Amino acid sequence: MYKIPLLSFLLIIFALVLPSIVSAKTPSIPILMYHYIQSSPAHSSLFVSPQNFASQMAYLADNGFTPISLDTLYAINQNLVFPPQKPIVITFDDGYIDFYTNAFPILRRYNFNSTVFVITGFVGRPPYLSWNNIEELNRTGLVSFQSHSVNHKSLTSLVFAKITQELTESKSVLGLKLGHPVNFIAYPFGQSDPRVASIASRAGYSGGLTTIYGKSHGNSFSIPRIRISGFDSLAAFAAKIN
Ligand SMILES: [Zn+2]
Repeated sequence: MYKIPLLSFLLIIFALVLPSIVSAKTPSIPILMYHYIQSSPAHSSLFVSPQNFASQMAYLADNGFTPISLDTLYAINQNLVFPPQKPIVITFDDGYIDFYTNAFPILRRYNFNSTVFVITGFVGRPPYLSWNNIEELNRTGLVSFQSHSVNHKSLTSLVFAKITQELTESKSVLGLKLGHPVNFIAYPFGQSDPRVASIASRAGYSGGLTTIYGKSHGNSFSIPRIRISGFDSLAAFAAKIN
């Protein structure tokens, strides 16, 4: 007699609790996207001054954010680890030398984890990091290097074999140099489509990052990021991540 009301009651409770379980599995986590950390020679939004970058990192530290790697983000989204307090991912595209000279000294001050997307075919030529720089930064355990292709071509405009080469060669070259797997690709110019995403998945990547604006909501091959502009005030920076 009481079985049916009890079952209905349990179903209602389950329906109420389920959405919070699902959302706990895929928390909304900001992934910051930077390019150059230096004063802009041409008043470009891609250049964040070292002074502004230092203020932004101080803001993260003062407000209890925990910078994590993309591998940790993946594990959080798979429900394999609990998220730390206010997780955030700090990424740098292209692998410019100013990451070594300007950004890393500030990041190290706070013991902040960061991710650099390297164009493997450009390593060692100005204004990019050298393999020596990359290996030295890798040894600190604070910087995670991931793929940004071999030649920084728009992958959506290439034929199948060329896309495969851009994805697999950059992954294996970096993996050999670093001594650990490279699991993420940031698409050059943020350009991807279902064909590129499926080749990336078959090449063994765990995820792909775009330049689409937004916070990350789970593992995918079209992960959005939050572009930090050289023109952002500290208030604008704070508004973007909160
Ligand atoms: Zn790029």
